[in-house]
Amino acid sequence: MSQALHALCCLTLALLAPLASAASDTLLLQNAQVVDVEQGTVQLLDVLVEGDRISALLPPGDGPDGGQRVDLAGRYLIPGLWDMHVHFEGRDLVEDNALLLPVYLAYGVTAVRDASGSLADTVLQWRGEIARGERLGPRIFTSGQKFEGIDSLWEGDREVGNREQMLAGMDEQQELGVDFIKVTENTLPPELFLQTVAEAHRRGLLVSTHVPLGLGIFELAEAGLSSIEHASYLLRLGYIDKENVDEETIARQVRDGRLGTEQANAAYSDHFDQDTANAAYMRLAAAGVAVTPTLIGGRQLAWLAESDHREDAFLRYLTDDFTAKYQWRIDRMAGETEDQRAARKARYNLTAAQVPQLQAAGVTLLAGSDSAALNTYVYPAQALHDELALFTDAGLSPLHALQAATINGARFMRLGDDYGSIAPGKQADLVVLEENPLEDIRATTRIQALVHGGQLYDRAVLDALLEQAAARKKALEAGTP
Ligand SMILES: [Zn+2]
Repeated sequence: MSQALHALCCLTLALLAPLASAASDTLLLQNAQVVDVEQGTVQLLDVLVEGDRISALLPPGDGPDGGQRVDLAGRYLIPGLWDMHVHFEGRDLVEDNALLLPVYLAYGVTAVRDASGSLADTVLQWRGEIARGERLGPRIFTSGQKFEGIDSLWEGDREVGNREQMLAGMDEQQELGVDFIKVTENTLPPELFLQTVAEAHRRGLLVSTHVPLGLGIFELAEAGLSSIEHASYLLRLGYIDKENVDEETIARQVRDGRLGTEQANAAYSDHFDQDTANAAYMRLAAAGVAVTPTLIGGRQLAWLAESDHREDAFLRYLTDDFTAKYQWRIDRMAGETEDQRAARKARYNLTAAQVPQLQAAGVTLLAGSDSAALNTYVYPAQALHDELALFTDAGLSPLHALQAATINGARFMRLGDDYGSIAPGKQADLVVLEENPLEDIRATTRIQALVHGGQLYDRAVLDALLEQAAARKKALEAGTP
């Protein structure tokens, strides 16, 4: 164990609770209701952890003597949760973001996929520190800088204006060892966007993107797209008019300059046919393109006017500078009319309704919160739980919601042999819940303990991590870090 982590553990252990007695090489979790996230079953078992791996699932009482033993007394055991879409953002918010890393663990989130922000170098550094045990936090996957066009809206992205620049950028990202490539559509022309996806795919890299108006979703799929970020783009697949003009036709017309972006958006918002969309979702599933719906951000904005967030518990971990970034969206929406608000809600509801339809079509769903300082009231760590609740509110089963936050993400990252379920040989990243998440997914918020990298953190330790984060926030605000 590293010095830093050791010091933290000692600090928290001093507060403690018999559960987290001194670490030993084996940890036996007795009488756990082990949730099989693949089968959707629950079985009472003892789980033996050796080092940072699960070594055996045993009938209760069959575990070896010695080592650390904890009786979970029938509590539920799930794999650590993965948030497949977060952003670490704000060059002036490095420490404000860093203090949240242990908070993820306290919320049962053992891995996050950073879909790029303005802190690419810092996030790569955190990724290494966490992997080496020098910093406490979830495993980080990061895209590094995302690809964009010249003079894009985004801070800290990799702006490319032609194929040579794109190739050079890809070389550099690969050299840095990013975990996937992210591409967005603010100023990147459709042709170069498509080439970026194809190039990432050619190099064997995962590639996750938004969808430009000038490209059809299946053009991207054919170029090797791994995942679409934000289900709102999929509503385009429900478009078909009397002349059989569909999404691919509109994309071609936008690309050729025959249709303006406003006209294209108007056409899409004008019309949606669920059967047309569902047929396209089957094609998407066959093409192996995953979807990260990211509902919670849209939900928070659509109901902003009637929500009071001033007493939200999570604010104790967010600095004033962090939440100050929320204001731009609030300001931008301040002038919305009743009709616009109603349209926003309807669009949210229609987007959310796609989640069970995508699942039914066989599309891999990835649970991602899109938490970021720029995404208003989408709280890091907590928002993943909110997202899962929105999935089931929209009609997804709790099992499918849980899969989206565990096994689906692990397989997507090509780490399905090591993560994502509770099985011998897999990493011992485990969350102990008071209630059965297969009955109500909101059970993921009632965390009694965490096993991370084979180390047990009981509720008191998790609470101590939260207290430290709250104290750190206050110190940053007071200018006495
Ligand atoms: Zn995002």
